[in-house]
Amino acid sequence: MSPGTDRRNLLKMLPGVDRVLEALRAHALSAPVSQALLTQSVRKVISGLREKILSENKTVGPEDLSMEAVMDRVHAEIQRRLSPMLRRVVNGTGVVVHTNLGRSLLSESAVQNLAAVGSRYSNLEFDLAAGVRGSRYAAVEEILCEISGGEAAMVVNNNAGAVLVCLETLARGKKVIVSRGELVEIGGAFRIPDVMAKSGAFLKEVGTTNRTHPHDYEGGIEDETGLLLKVHRSNYSVVGFTASVSLKNLVDLGRTYGIPVMEDLGSGTFIDFSKYGLEYEPTVQESVASGADVVTFSGDKLLGGPQAGIIVGKKAFLDRIKKNPLTRALRIDKLTLAALESTLRLYRDEACAVESIPTLRMILAPVKEIEKRAARLRRTLKSIGSTRLQVVLTDHSSRVGGGALPLLKIPSRCLGIRIEGMSINHVERFMREKAEIPVIGRIEDDLFILDPRTIQEEEIPIIKSAFCCLLERGG
Ligand SMILES: *Cc1c(COP(=O)(O)O)cnc(C)c1O
Repeated sequence: MSPGTDRRNLLKMLPGVDRVLEALRAHALSAPVSQALLTQSVRKVISGLREKILSENKTVGPEDLSMEAVMDRVHAEIQRRLSPMLRRVVNGTGVVVHTNLGRSLLSESAVQNLAAVGSRYSNLEFDLAAGVRGSRYAAVEEILCEISGGEAAMVVNNNAGAVLVCLETLARGKKVIVSRGELVEIGGAFRIPDVMAKSGAFLKEVGTTNRTHPHDYEGGIEDETGLLLKVHRSNYSVVGFTASVSLKNLVDLGRTYGIPVMEDLGSGTFIDFSKYGLEYEPTVQESVASGADVVTFSGDKLLGGPQAGIIVGKKAFLDRIKKNPLTRALRIDKLTLAALESTLRLYRDEACAVESIPTLRMILAPVKEIEKRAARLRRTLKSIGSTRLQVVLTDHSSRVGGGALPLLKIPSRCLGIRIEGMSINHVERFMREKAEIPVIGRIEDDLFILDPRTIQEEEIPIIKSAFCCLLERGG
């Protein structure tokens, strides 16, 4: 039989939407389901099967097209639609600020404040002392100035938004000088040149990829220059024969020519990681102290708070930024604001911040502590009592992620897991797709690797039950 005839026969076997819907009516479903959900589920399954029949490497056969087999798929699809899409997962990747897995976990106090403000009325834009309309940003401006040393501050939806509104306010229709070594792309389509274009400012590149000198910036200055911009190389490093201009030098140059200076710090940390034996990452306080007019950074990277874009700097510039109508479009919402305020308050006491902000705690956890958790996790998995389950401890390194400290490998102690008679891909897929709470790990050297650095203590039983389930069901 030619492939064409074969395809036609398979298509003929495929039941129609109406027939499947009719068959469904005869079955009692486990939960009440709307007609719209039923119809869409049936359509999706049937069009999926049709696509597979027509595709090059046809992956369906006659056995997949019986009414019974189709109904099984429809039931699975209904089940999928009934369960929540956005849900918690266990991060076993060892990447602390994992953008795909939600970046930072909120601290206890941030979660409590978020719940309190979200479930009640609040003074979001109401000045309780004066009894008149107040500023949404009042909740965080004072504390931001206190910790960063800035004269004024404001917050928007995320750092990409912060960069956009700053550029639009300070340099729309003007030229912005940036070093060629700092034209970064952050994951998720954030590219400095593209954001610049959207802001209506014109990019003026100076220097080379590896070396940029003060005279490059100076040579680039023209009448239409509106801003000198420094961008933190968040997610890459330039090594070897390199030179860049310090923020302090850029500020001096800006002063000489009367041009404002802005730094996009990206991650933004209030804590000097080199104090804890890690690599140095520039702090917000240092950028402010260098005299930059405007500094922007993220709320949910190294800061360990909710998604937000934070802007601190000189009052005269912040006043202009606050008046930009774009801030209304990029407005931070009250839940974020509640979580951000609580997170920021923790920074008043660095020891307290390091202990209670999960992102900091995970990054700075000593390998001894990770080792203990690894041993505990291994014992728990061993307690399942299956001889097929093999668990070894291996030395791997964790990463900060989120475009911060890109070269830093934090020593860690990981679990390498294998199940006799089961492919490692199957294990990985089950944990990600089928486990009640997904457990995300990676495959290396034919082992399923879990890094305890990003696994919370109370998640150990969750991992155990996922493996119990896999061993019982076989997937
Ligand atoms: C991450 C990053 C951004 C974008 O911040 P978001 O909070 O993700 O919008 C912008 N600039 C730099 C340098 C970054 O590292």
